[in-house]
Amino acid sequence: MKVVRTAAELNEEVAKQRRTGQTIGFVPTMGALHVGHISLVNKCLNDGCYTICSIFVNPTQFNDKNDLKNYPRMPEKDLALLEERGVHLVFMPSVEEIYPEPDARIFDFGSIDKVMEGAKRPGHFNGVAQIVSKLFAIADPDKAYFGEKDFQQIAIINAMVKQLEFKVEIVRCPIVRNPDGLALSSRNMLLNEQQRKSAPTIYRALSDAKQLGTSTSIEEVKERVIAQVNANSELKVEYFDVVDADSLQSLSSWEESNNIFGCIAVQVGAIRLIDNIRLK
Ligand code: AMP
Repeated sequence: MKVVRTAAELNEEVAKQRRTGQTIGFVPTMGALHVGHISLVNKCLNDGCYTICSIFVNPTQFNDKNDLKNYPRMPEKDLALLEERGVHLVFMPSVEEIYPEPDARIFDFGSIDKVMEGAKRPGHFNGVAQIVSKLFAIADPDKAYFGEKDFQQIAIINAMVKQLEFKVEIVRCPIVRNPDGLALSSRNMLLNEQQRKSAPTIYRALSDAKQLGTSTSIEEVKERVIAQVNANSELKVEYFDVVDADSLQSLSSWEESNNIFGCIAVQVGAIRLIDNIRLK
C-alpha cells in the first residue's frame, strides 16, 4: 500500500494507474476508521477499482472548534486497517497541502442545505463541498463512495458534482450498525459508558417509527420519536424530520412522496450523533 501526502504525488500515481486501464475508486474519510468506513472500501475493491482512501480531518466543515479539536485521530491504526484490507493508496495530506491559502468559495445548493444539518451547522456543507471538490480535482476518480449515514451529505455531493461538472459516479453505501443498532460513527468512541448504553435508543425510536407505518400521521410519528429519545435523560433530540429523499424538504403527509426518510440528530452530552431510516 502506497501512502502519499502531497497532491502532486497522488496526481502522478493516478495518471500512472489510468494509463494501465485501471478504474479509479475513491473513498474520502476523516479517519478514526471503523467497519462503516471499511464497508465503503470493500465495495470499492469489489467493484474492481484501484482503491484510494483519503484521511483528512477537514477544518472548514467544522462549525464547532471543540468538535474539531476533539475529533479522534489515530493514523497508525487507520493505515494498518487499510493495508490489511488491500487498499492500493492512502492520501494523507496536511492542512497546508490542501489549503495553501484559505478557500473562499461559497457554494449555492438552494434549499437542500437550508434544512436539518445545514440549518443546525452553518457553513458545514460549504466546507464539505470545498474539501470534496478539491479531493476530486486531485484524485480525478471514476467512482467515489459515500455512506448513507450522512444522508444529506450525499445530496450535497451530487449537487456539487453536477455544478462543477465532475465526471465521477457517486456510489451510495448502506449504513453499518453495531449489533445493538447504533450506527457506527467515529464520534461513538467519545461517548462515556452511560452515554454509549443510551445511544441505541436512537435507532430503536427510528425502527419503531418505521413499524408504525404510514397509517400513523407524520405529525404523530415525529412526536413519538422525539418523546421516545428524550425520555432517556442522556439524550436530547436536536431535530427529527420526515423528508422527501430527493428534495430533503419536510413533509406533512405520506402521500406527498414515495421515497420518504426520517432523519435525526441527537445531542449526547457534548457529542452530536446523526442517523436516518427509510420510512416509505
Ligand atoms: P467520515 O470519516 O465520518 O467523514 O465518513 C467517511 C465516509 O464514511 C462518509 O461517506 C460516511 O457517510 C461513511 N460512513 C460513516 N459511518 C458510516 C456507517 N456507519 N455506515 C456506512 N458508512 C459510513
